[in-house]
Amino acid sequence: MRSNEYLNYCCLLLVLLFFNSGCNKKLHKILVKSQEDLVAIGEFQEVNQNKQSCTDPLNYIPIDPDLYPVRYIRVNFHFMDNENAEYNFGPEDGRKYMRYLLQNANDRLIENFAMNLPVGNETPNHNPRYQYVLTPSQGENDDAFYHHYDNDHCFFVNKGRNKNNYSREVIDKYKIGEDSILNIFIIPHHPDSLATGRHRAHRTGIALGNGLKIAGLAEKREEPWKFATLLNHEIGHFFSLKHSWTKHDGCDDTPPHPNCWHPDGTEKCPDPVSNNLMDYNSSQMAITPCQLGRVHKSIAMLNSTTRKVVRPDWCIKDHTKIYKINRDTIWAGAIDLNKDLLITTGNSLTIKCRLSMPSGGKIIVEPGATLHLDGCKLHNDCGYDWEGIQVLKNKNQSGKIVYTGTVKIENADDRQS
Ligand SMILES: [Zn+2]
Repeated sequence: MRSNEYLNYCCLLLVLLFFNSGCNKKLHKILVKSQEDLVAIGEFQEVNQNKQSCTDPLNYIPIDPDLYPVRYIRVNFHFMDNENAEYNFGPEDGRKYMRYLLQNANDRLIENFAMNLPVGNETPNHNPRYQYVLTPSQGENDDAFYHHYDNDHCFFVNKGRNKNNYSREVIDKYKIGEDSILNIFIIPHHPDSLATGRHRAHRTGIALGNGLKIAGLAEKREEPWKFATLLNHEIGHFFSLKHSWTKHDGCDDTPPHPNCWHPDGTEKCPDPVSNNLMDYNSSQMAITPCQLGRVHKSIAMLNSTTRKVVRPDWCIKDHTKIYKINRDTIWAGAIDLNKDLLITTGNSLTIKCRLSMPSGGKIIVEPGATLHLDGCKLHNDCGYDWEGIQVLKNKNQSGKIVYTGTVKIENADDRQS
């Protein structure tokens, strides 16, 4: 028995030794959580920096769904009417109408048609990766629809002495949750203007800061989908998009054209005419990569009015996924990432602008991988802690951090992970 016990003991020892030798292959982890850590561990590299990349919309085209999960734009709706409630939707039909319209506007965004112009173009039609979400902000009975009865602020006038289309007065008086919600006002055209017969109750709108005014809905009472692209167009303006029939909209993939509503057989408006969202046409169903880049760039701009109305889903970590860098990659625009980031052996990632890491998130640099921090800023956009950079090392090789210019590392906590 004794010798058997001794044998067992020896076997156990051998097994333990075996596993222990396995453990010796364990990766060594070096943590970088501050500029000081970076200077101590990283390798400084002097190169010419080109910071223009951070403002180039082409660096924000939402092609990769893991870098650009759908962004949710928080909206609410205000119906303006006179004190006798004569000119706008009522509480019940207004809600029904706008809920349908909002859903239809979201559906149309996702459809994103291929561009009609220029003829023969191969411009990609990406998923826009943004949607609107009704957002109440005042407790239980708030459903993000508000009716206001105010004889002084209930009409939209875009011509003449009492023109008020560019005035923010009604927005400033009735806005709710304006720091984080896009307030959309549905305002009827003035009945006196319509009575002259020179003024039609046409669909129109205007984006003013964090508010939007749209008119023509209540007078026409047409199917709500007919106004869905008006909403998308005006929200396009809110996100920095300009009318695209001119040369000056900041996008090379939207050619200038005569801005025809539809083809009419004339030399000016032959078939096809534009179907771009930011022109005046009967479709308004196409958004180009550059236009989407402009939208997502404006969402990525810290402290901008536009970013504030986007639900900051990027601050919370998605534990189900890791973003893996499997080839040499440059992030030339700002990124708001909602998962851990892994740079795999043999590959590199250069970060040139800003990267927000989610709460509790980390960047892992595998042995033989390189992270180049090129004058960038790493942080958590909501002020939560993230776990910093882990540089891994094994017997043969180590991960590497290179840095250029001034690099900021913020919100990385001090706990060992
Ligand atoms: Zn417009």
